[in-house]
Amino acid sequence: MSHTEKPQITQMNADWKTLLKGICVDLRLSAVCCVLALALVACGPGRHHESEPVVEGQHQTESHEVHWGYVGDEGPGHWANLSPEFAPCSEGVEQSPVDLTGAVPIEDAGIERRLGTEVLSFGQRARVMDLVDNGHTIQITNDAPVTLDLGGVHFELVQFHFHSPSEHTIGSQHAPLEVHMVHKSEAGDLAVIGVLVEEGEHDSIWDPIIGALPNSPGDDRHLEDLDLDMSELRPLPERYYRYRGSLTTPPCSEGVEWIVMAEKRQISPAQMAAMVSRLHDNNRPVQPLGNRAIGLVSR
Ligand SMILES: [Zn+2]
Repeated sequence: MSHTEKPQITQMNADWKTLLKGICVDLRLSAVCCVLALALVACGPGRHHESEPVVEGQHQTESHEVHWGYVGDEGPGHWANLSPEFAPCSEGVEQSPVDLTGAVPIEDAGIERRLGTEVLSFGQRARVMDLVDNGHTIQITNDAPVTLDLGGVHFELVQFHFHSPSEHTIGSQHAPLEVHMVHKSEAGDLAVIGVLVEEGEHDSIWDPIIGALPNSPGDDRHLEDLDLDMSELRPLPERYYRYRGSLTTPPCSEGVEWIVMAEKRQISPAQMAAMVSRLHDNNRPVQPLGNRAIGLVSR
């Protein structure tokens, strides 16, 4: 992924429900899509700098050409054996995803010490989006500014992508779909917002994305003239989980600040079927919580 393609950011305030919406909203085009989530960087082969952190969901072909997947000898249980750089996948003690059951009030989770006062705010306006099937997920990048301010640290969305079924669980239960919005700070730290999605009401915000989904690995779609104003729809989330974890894909790097919305978002069964048909069980199993506490923020 190349951080040179990092989307710019603007301002927005959002809520989690709108998070997606936020991300996706508006538009002259159609509204869109985005919803999903986070952002990150695109991953163009060859454009990744070794010194830059690898972002979750990023295709690992840039410099290493190490193949990994979700089944067989390249599955999650073997990731650490595929490359020395993937060692954290088995040796790490703060890995993701996790089951979110047992969360405690954020004040008791020991997270403030890391990021200061727990304040979550979003800002965003996006215009152009690229959707790519990188072989591991459907990843979306946007060229406009999308920001996340967490405890006084400013992050920018680099990309967002999907997992099916969800990677995080609540009460050991998976949702059919999870969106990850990957944000990066100027210092290179990562913060990922996760949104679990279930079947329910149709959400037109997803239509543009679903209509432009890549059909096979390597397929890349480009949407222009989107104008997503997240600020319109984004009240801050009422409740969300916070914990320290890792990328859920190799190299499983730790130090990632996770924000997982406590409420699931809904899309119609047809929309869900369209999304799931492109993802192929790309979820890493939940990892031991270890000594970590999961904080629940209720506004
Ligand atoms: Zn992910």
